[in-house]
Order: sequence, then C-alpha cells, then structure tokens
Amino acid sequence: MKLYNFLSRKKENFRPRRAKSVGFYTCGPTVYDFAHIGNFRAYIFEDILRRTLEYVGYRVKQVMNITDIDDKIIRRARAHRMPTVDFVKPYEEAFFNDLKKLNIKPAWKYPRATKHISEMITLISKLLKKGLAYEEGGSIYFDISKFERYGRLSRLKPKELKSGLRIDVDEYTKQNVRDFVLWKGKKPGEPSWKANFGKGPTLNAVEGRPGWHIECSAMSMKYLGKSFDIHGGGVDLIFPHHENEIAQSEGATGKPFVRFFVEGEHLLVDGKKMSKSLHNMFTLKDIERRGFDPLVFRYLVLNAHYRSRLNFTWKALEGAKNSLRRIRERMVILGRRAQKKTHKSFRKELMRRMEDDLDTPGALRVFWKHFDALSRDDIIWASQIFGLNLERWRVRAIPAGIKKLVKKREEFRGKKEWQKADKIRAQIKKLGWQVEDTAKGPVLKSA
Ligand SMILES: [Zn+2]
Repeated sequence: MKLYNFLSRKKENFRPRRAKSVGFYTCGPTVYDFAHIGNFRAYIFEDILRRTLEYVGYRVKQVMNITDIDDKIIRRARAHRMPTVDFVKPYEEAFFNDLKKLNIKPAWKYPRATKHISEMITLISKLLKKGLAYEEGGSIYFDISKFERYGRLSRLKPKELKSGLRIDVDEYTKQNVRDFVLWKGKKPGEPSWKANFGKGPTLNAVEGRPGWHIECSAMSMKYLGKSFDIHGGGVDLIFPHHENEIAQSEGATGKPFVRFFVEGEHLLVDGKKMSKSLHNMFTLKDIERRGFDPLVFRYLVLNAHYRSRLNFTWKALEGAKNSLRRIRERMVILGRRAQKKTHKSFRKELMRRMEDDLDTPGALRVFWKHFDALSRDDIIWASQIFGLNLERWRVRAIPAGIKKLVKKREEFRGKKEWQKADKIRAQIKKLGWQVEDTAKGPVLKSA
C-alpha cells in the first residue's frame, strides 16, 4: 500500500513496524464548540485510511485524543461562568454522536488530556533534564535551538528560527517560530495542577497547566509507544502542532517518533475558507436540518482526494444525495433477487485505487463503471471500505400493516396534507421502519 508521507513529501510504500499491527494516532477535537464539517472531513479520511489498512489485513490500534483543556476552552468556559469540566461535556457528547452518524469506527482509545497530566509532567521533566527546555517566569518552554531537526516536517528555513524568543499561545503561524510553551504557570481563575519537575529550586513545584502540543506527545506515546507508524491530522496542524510534537517526543526519547505523517487538506465552503464572520462553519446539525442524511456528507467527502481541497456547496451535497439514493435503490432491487456473486476484477480494481494513497475519487469511478454488474454482496463489500453503511440497507418482508400505512401516507401526500403524512411517517418509524421518498416512490428501510 502506498501513502503520501509528509516527512519526505513523497508517496512511500507503507509497512508497519510490527508485521500485523499498525499504531495510528489521530489528533482529536478540542471540545470548546461543536465540530464543523471541515473537522469531520479529516475524521472521515482517517476512518477511510483505517478501513483500508484493515482490509489489507492489518490490525489498527487507533488512538484519538480529546483536548479538554487549552486556551480556547478556558476562555469560553470563563465567559459562560462554568468550570471547564462542565463546559466541555455537551460538546464531547455531541462529538461522539456525530462520529456515529457518520459511521466512523470508534478508536481503540480516546484519552482525555486532563487525565494524563502526570504523563505530561514526566515528559517535560525529561526535556528539562536533557537541557531542551527551560523555565522562565513560572512557565516552561521548549528551546528550539537545542533540537537540531526542528522544522523538518514543516520545512522551515533556518533563518526563520528565532530561538530565545518565546510564544505562550497554543496556536500560532510560521511568522512566529519561537520557543513554545510546554507548561503554563498558574494564572488566577484558570484550572491548574501541582507539578514537581524535580530540577533546581525554582522548579521543584510549578503549579500550572500543560500547553496544547505536549498533550498529544504524552498521550500518543503512552498508548502506542515511543515510535509508532502513522500520525494523522490536517495540513493546518503541520505547523506548529505536529512540528512541536516531533520536537517534544524525539527530544525526550531520542527515538524517531512517527514514521508517516498523513495530513488531509482543507474543506472550503462555496470556494471560501470557513470562518465565523462568513457564517459558513456548518456543523452536522446544519446538514441534518436541511434534510440531509449525514452519510450523504460522507459520500461527498469521498468525491475528493484527501490531499486536495474539497469545495462544499449545498448543490454538491444534493448531487451526493442523488448518487447515494441510486445505490440504495439498487440495494432494494437486488435484495429482492438475493443472489450471491463476487465481481473479482471490480474488487481488485477498486482496491488498487484505495491502496494508491487512498484514491477515493478513483475508487468511486471504478464503482460506478461496474455499477450495473454488481451484486448486492459487491455493493456491501464496497460499502464497508467507503463506510456508507449500506449493509444495513436491507429488505425485510414488509408487514401488511406497514404497507397500508405507507399507502395512506401517499394519499395524504397526494392531497398535500403534509402534517398528516408526517404523522404517519412518525408512526411507521415507531414500528421500526423508515420511509425514504425517491423519484420512483417511497422506499422502506428497516430503521
Ligand atoms: Zn494533536
């Protein structure tokens, strides 16, 4: 299998360190708000990578962190006059719900930052001991001039490195390449932890909280070891986040941290970057509110290669909806025939695309090229790689009572009595069925 490695900026043959098992770390959400569709694009591509690796025959140990303490969380929780622990809870719950709706496989572990403070302290202590970190004004910083390979991932030029100057915020751009903060000294009104870094009189006890970057180093290495196979994320995380993760981890252990950095591209909305001021930071809720099944969004994501920008428009989503509907209708038709057949050359061709750096648009082209010749089994097989959950789109014998209700609903719809029609739809749902209106009339799905 070939994967584009951001460390070498090349497609490379991927083989895990251990013969059968892949260690896979993915930067998770900072739970200060609802995740937007740009975030989910990244989580979908990582899920596709995982499914492909699993299909090829590897066991994937995926770890995704939950950042439940950082600058943004503290700021927002304070604005709401809430303890950070209570503030993050609903966002965390919503995040897991959304993952389920998008049919993203659960990670092996979802470590929370606040539950791994002692691991972070140990890591920072090691960096202090090795002279790669120093204390200044009650905070601890990473000295980038002491780590020779700093800038390797993000391809910084040596003259861009300004060592000796410090930066305290978790997020910054390449214009601010500085010594970054590992541990932030206690500030009034902020959550803090007592820490013993065990070095010198000023450092015996420094109360404070971790910086964002150290969270990922500590949690990835705790569960996956000092060196692991793949680190996933997005191009916006390359600098400073992933660059700093490498510096902290390799600085402390002296071993190569990650073999493959795999980074997804941005999602644009109507050709523009998502931003608060443009009101285009859509969530999955927004998509559902407009009547789309979240899996339609997943289908749309598959249409672009993960390393190209994806332009999200409602029209494109409508197109994805129609494609997915066509597949679902076909499943219903094929289900009635219930034939078992394997289209070998189709499967081989599709996997060839997937194993070439997850060429999902290419794989979809293969899928549609063979569409009319595919059996129900073939479609389910492809669905498991794409994660479209079509295996659940099966045909049960429809009870006469349900058929009657559907007929009644159609009559109301014919008379444009929408409320009555909706009421029947709800009644049908309660009985375990879902009605999907298609061009060829209503289609039933077991809910
Ligand atoms: Zn991270």
